[in-house]
Formats: sequence, structure tokens, C-alpha cells
Amino acid sequence: TTNLIWFRNDLRVTDNPALTNACKDQNATVIALYIATPEQWKMHHMSARQAYFIHVRLTELQKELAELNIQLLYQSCNNFTDSIDVIDNICQEYQINQLFYNRQYEFNEHKRDCLLKKKLKNSVKCIELDGNLFTIPLTIRNGKGEMYKVFTPFRNTFLDQFIQTDYHLYEQPEPRENQKIKSKKIPAFDYPTEKFEFFSPITKKALQRLEEFCAEKVEGYTEKRDIPSLDYTSQLSAYLALGVLSVRQCLHYLTQEYPRFWENQKSGAFSWFNELIWREFYQHLMVAHPRLCKHKPFIEWTDNIQWKNNKDHFEQWKAGNTGYPIIDAAMRQLNQTGWMHNRLRMITASFLVKDLLIDWRWGEQYFMSQLTDGDLAANNGGWQWAASTGTDSTPYFRIFNPTTQGQRFDPEGIFIKQWLPELKQVPTKLIHTPHQWAEKVGKPLNYPNPIIIHDIARKVTLEAFEKAKKTD
Ligand code: FAD
Repeated sequence: TTNLIWFRNDLRVTDNPALTNACKDQNATVIALYIATPEQWKMHHMSARQAYFIHVRLTELQKELAELNIQLLYQSCNNFTDSIDVIDNICQEYQINQLFYNRQYEFNEHKRDCLLKKKLKNSVKCIELDGNLFTIPLTIRNGKGEMYKVFTPFRNTFLDQFIQTDYHLYEQPEPRENQKIKSKKIPAFDYPTEKFEFFSPITKKALQRLEEFCAEKVEGYTEKRDIPSLDYTSQLSAYLALGVLSVRQCLHYLTQEYPRFWENQKSGAFSWFNELIWREFYQHLMVAHPRLCKHKPFIEWTDNIQWKNNKDHFEQWKAGNTGYPIIDAAMRQLNQTGWMHNRLRMITASFLVKDLLIDWRWGEQYFMSQLTDGDLAANNGGWQWAASTGTDSTPYFRIFNPTTQGQRFDPEGIFIKQWLPELKQVPTKLIHTPHQWAEKVGKPLNYPNPIIIHDIARKVTLEAFEKAKKTD
């Protein structure tokens, strides 16, 4: 028998159900495959940093697979449709009997897999597994048998069904005997890539970050997770988005430090796990409501909103030149590192939608084009939450004030000064309103004036939402 394992967003050898299952038969020949799809990536607005991360990670994965005597084949084609032919050709060339992969739940990915199964129906057995979530989408349902629309009851049912069950990690397979491999260097992608240091592609380093986070930071997560200057979140998001680590591995390390942590819902361990359940929730939602993958709002009347869509404002927001220090510092963190703290994602998203009255989809796309951890479900969920167009998102009349948000979550201005060196001279007390200080002391500031006045913008947004709701 010859088995093919197709790697997609599960670039790891441990806790990978497709790999473990492909290797179960000791006598089978096992070959691995990755297919780059640059045109599709462009359609999905994948960032150059994420492409870089995939590339360096593939090189590591190739080494890890080589230790198991498994060859990683690499192919590139335009898009998902073409990838079906690529697989078909490989199956013929290598006389593949069985194809293994972990399911992806996004609309385009799911459609591709359905077409592939149809194409291979008479020649290759397709074995689909689930490896990137704790649970399988659509298995967590309310009393009426439907997917939850609100997070908390979803979480409660999830906890009842999952956490008490005996989950296990899929072990890394043993090295194959009698398999010789010739590894070829993974060629450069036909897609822009941008080098960065923030996430190491080496498995050992990713696991070390997870282990250290569980041992040293989880305890203080509840109090400190909202303060961007404290560096108190795990910063594992790109590993989870590309499957370098799995959520089950996260739970495994977490329970080693905090066995039965779910019994204390106030603990840091529970708060952190709660975020992993948000990830789960958004993935399940996307499967229950495929229109989310087409960037449709969950609350339909919000499609009637008359956005202002001022292009200059959009450019100023993107560049971090809005004149609101917390917004600008956050956007510069994103632009320079490909990562942004969760609290800041919420504040900057709210500013774009509720202060500038710009369509949330513009922001969603821009985030995707910059983030290393860009993930359709989490990004869409986060944007729809902030824009009040999503499931249990913030009500539309609740609008963050960018100045007081800054005062609350960066009280000393430490984060702001890190990213906006032009404000270094401004005293802490006035760091969130630097123009007031400049006026008072008569000093010119090399920093833009606020591009909108929050109180006025707020009223305009409220009217736009109310009008949209009435025309429904
Ligand atoms: P931690 O606080 O350590 O959380 C652990 C893990 O839980 C994260 O790595 C992530 O996988 C998951 N997680 C945490 N919060 C959320 C959440 N609210 N929704 C879904 N999953 C979550 N996350 C992405 O992974 N990719 C995105 O493209 C993305 N876009 C976002 C856009 C907006 C507007 C908002 C408000 C949030 C977005 N998030 C996204 C969620 C969250 O901001 C990031 O997952 C988090 O900041 C990553 O940092 P961390 O690994 O230190 O998180």
C-alpha cells in the first residue's frame, strides 16, 4: 500500500491525526505533500509574513519528516481548483492507494476537498480526519439541535462534552523502515514573502514558548492579559493558525501545570482556555453559517449601513496617523511585526468602524494582509464583534472612546512611547491627549492632529446604525 499525507494548515508531526493514521500500517509506503497556491493566497489576502512563515516552517517540517524517513514533496499551482489536478497526477505517478488529510472548514477549502473526493472516487481512498480543533464543528448544539448563536452557552456545552472526556494526543509516528528519501530544497514561493523574527519556525522553540507560558504567565493572565505593554499573552497565534502546534497540545501543557483548572472559572488557566474556546466557537460558526466566509454580516440588517468609506481616513488608520496615540501605536505594532495584542485589535477595529464609519470588511482585509496569524474565522469573528454585525458582538450603541481606552489599558503610556517615539517628550499624564500638552507648553508636535472628533463621530455612527436598522 502507498499512503499520501497532504499537509495544509497542520504543519506538525506530533498530534497530527492524518499523519499518525497514514503511518499506522508499518508495511505501507508513506509520502507527504504540500501544495502552494499563490493565486488563491492572493484572493485570501494572505500576508507576505504568513507566506514567509509557511516557507520557513516547511523547511523545518521537511527535516522532521526526513527523521521519520518520509519524503515531503512540494508542488505549486495557481489555486485550489488546480490543486485537485496536482493531487490526481501525484496519485497516479506514485500509485497512491490512500490519501490522508486533516479537514479544513472554510468554504473554499471544503469545496475543494469535496471536488477532490469526487475526482478520486474510483482510484484513491480519501481518509479525512479532524486535527485542528478540540471538537468537530456542528457537534456542539443547543436543546433544539442548532448551533449556538452566543458564546457562553456554547462554552458551557463544550465544557460538558469535551473537557471531561479522555482526550489524547496523537503520538509522533516511529521512523519508517525501508524507506529511502531524497529531499529537495523547498523552492521560493511565487508570492511575496517578508522576513520577520517574531515566531520561530522551529518546533522545539514553539513548544518551549507554550511550556514557559503555562509555567510562568498563565497564573496572572486574567489580570494582565489586557495590558499590551506587559507581554502577558501567549503569542502562540501564528503557531495555531498554521497548525505548527495544536490546541490539544496547548491543553496538554496547561493541565500539566493546572490539573482540573476548569473547576475554578476565575483562574488564569481557565481565562486562557476560554480564549481557545473562542477560537473553537468562531470555527464552528463558520461551518454553520458559510456566508461568513463570503464576508456577509451575521446580523443581516447591518448590510444597510451607509458607510462613509473615506479613503484618506482609511490610509491614515492603516499607517497609524490618526492622531489618537493608542490607535497609532497599535497600527504601527501591526505594520512592523505582523502581530497585534488582542485588546488593541478590538480598539483599532472599533475605531475604524465606529469612529471613521468605514466598512468593517476593509479593516478585515487589511488585517489579513498584515497578520502572521491571519485566520479567516478568528479575524472575521473579531471584526464582526467589533463592528456589532456579528453573533454576540458588542451592541452597536456601545462605542469605545479611543482616548479613555488608552488611559485604561496603557495608563503610563509605556506601549505608546514604545511605538511612537515622537511622543517621548510628552509627560505621562497627558500622553493620551498630546495636543493639549503641546498647546499648553507652546511646543510643536511632530504628530498628526486627530482626524476626527470622537464625540461627533460617535453621534454620526449611531444615526447610521439606527437608520440601517429602521430600513430593515
Ligand atoms: P492568547 O491570549 O494567548 O490566546 C491564545 C490563543 O487563543 C490565541 O493564540 C488564538 O489562537 C486564540 N484566541 C485568543 N483570542 C481569540 C479570539 N478573540 N478569537 C479567536 N481566537 C482567539 N486571532 C487569530 O488567530 N487570527 C486572526 O486573524 C485574528 N484576527 C482578529 C481580529 C480582530 C479584530 C480581533 C478583535 C481579534 C482577532 N484575533 C485573531 C483574536 C486575537 O486577537 C488573537 O488570537 C490574539 O491576539 C493572539 O495573541 P496570543 O496568541 O498572545 O493570544
